Amino acid sequence: MSAPTATPAALSQARTRASESAPREYLNLIGGKWVPSRSGKSFENRNPARTSDLIGTFPDSGPEDVDSAVQAASRAFTSWRLLPAPRRGELIFRVAEILRERKEELARLMTREMGKVLAETRGDVQEAIDMAYYIAAEGRRLAGVTVPSELPNKFAMSVRQPLGVCSLITPWNFPMAIPSWKIFPALVCGNTVVIKPASDTPGSAHHLVEALVEAGVPDGVVNIVHGGGSTVGIPLVTHPDVKMISFTGSSDVGKTIAERSAKTLKRVSLELGGKNAQIVMEDADLDLAVEGALWGAFGTTGQRCTATSRLIVMKEIHDEVLRRLRERASKLRLGDGLEPGSEVGPLINRAQRDRVHSYVEIGKAEGATLVLGGAPADQGALGEGAFYPPTIFDGVKPTMRIAQEEIFGPVLSVITVSSLEEAIQVLNGTPFGLSSSIYTRDVNRAMRAVRDIEAGITYVNGPTIGAEVQLPFGGVKETGNGHREGGPTVIDAFTEWKSVYIDYSGRLQKAQIDR
Ligand code: NAD
Repeated sequence: MSAPTATPAALSQARTRASESAPREYLNLIGGKWVPSRSGKSFENRNPARTSDLIGTFPDSGPEDVDSAVQAASRAFTSWRLLPAPRRGELIFRVAEILRERKEELARLMTREMGKVLAETRGDVQEAIDMAYYIAAEGRRLAGVTVPSELPNKFAMSVRQPLGVCSLITPWNFPMAIPSWKIFPALVCGNTVVIKPASDTPGSAHHLVEALVEAGVPDGVVNIVHGGGSTVGIPLVTHPDVKMISFTGSSDVGKTIAERSAKTLKRVSLELGGKNAQIVMEDADLDLAVEGALWGAFGTTGQRCTATSRLIVMKEIHDEVLRRLRERASKLRLGDGLEPGSEVGPLINRAQRDRVHSYVEIGKAEGATLVLGGAPADQGALGEGAFYPPTIFDGVKPTMRIAQEEIFGPVLSVITVSSLEEAIQVLNGTPFGLSSSIYTRDVNRAMRAVRDIEAGITYVNGPTIGAEVQLPFGGVKETGNGHREGGPTVIDAFTEWKSVYIDYSGRLQKAQIDR
């Protein structure tokens, strides 16, 4: 009788159980080797639902580690750029298969370090899988432009070329999805990368890099350096051998990066903050609109760049919408994201919880009416984590700070308006322009909103969250600098155009002159 063999799912579950108990010592990946920081220093990664739960330690790296990683990536670039793009795409396809097999394990690890509930971390891993499949096929496209020449016997085309070493700097709220949106396209386009994930969620990006190694990525093509914004982030921005920076995070840090990188004219792709709004017209399906607002405002505990933080409601339906919203939101169950039944996980850490609470105090001082929540949830087991309940303000004026600044927590501001024009004006009246939504059954109003809203994304009869990988993602105004990662446009972020003219006339031909 042959010994029973473990299925991939059983192996994955066994790994999950093992990894959920003992803290692990994580390392940097530089030039294909797993190494500690040169200084030997490390930092801890703890579960935001139970801060006594130590997940592991990570290298607390510095500029010297960044330099080694950039040098390794520069060396690897010389051969990686020459590997045919379809082969590069096949490697990413293998990563998709590995992630698919480990989805549950990776989601559980992510909930443990980031806090969001398991259904959402499964979605985060799924987004990385979707991006891998989507971008793997791009290896067989990377389409250029071929046009007729104005001269006889001359061929004219443009091709895409890789940039070189790319620095990828990511936030903590989508710990695997956002790194995947950057690493996979960068690699398919022929670049090599150094990634620095947020130090609140270093594990998920680390597991993604492990999947790349397992899929066979050559040494030095992908490097990961863990550490803080000033010690690792800044050196990654200013290093002379880095050709491109892809950053997702807050608008304040994004502006700093733009300033620093301007000195060397590096390409910089910035995906920054939001202050997203959902409009509810009086003809809307109110059940649907309230469901959308709940998911948009309190999903991921409000910690999404696309979270709904303003609900702009027509005055005729204001009371009914508020009543339903309050009733539904008050029943959402806070808890450890790994516990079945939890609907709202903790905030990323206690500092963020304090920040959210300070905005609640600001809202009260500004004269908004607190109708739900408004104090940290620290009773019983919740007291061990960074929990904050769904919080709703009514009577919010568009100019109040709670209606203007990104809070990044479960706080929704309800603003009452009298017309579609006023609703759009209020929606547009912040420095940000990422996501937006309108609920209406009137196609004419929907189309006017799509035309006039200043945002990178507009949903009709859907919440402000829910982007898919195959469309451009990003925003206008202080949400970014015009690049769009995701969709076909991500290829523009990670390639340089080269125009090629091939003259087969055998004589000197002069464009614009020979007429
Ligand atoms: P953050 O700006 O504080 O940090 C983001 C990353 O930058 C982290 O890895 C951090 O260590 C690093 N960093 C910090 N200071 C740096 C510096 N001076 N130089 C280089 N790197 C530095 O953001 P966060 O708190 O991690 O994430 C929340 C923010 O991210 C919110 O503003 C949210 O809207 C935004 N976000 C935007 C998108 C988008 O696609 N537009 C997506 C997710 C999150």
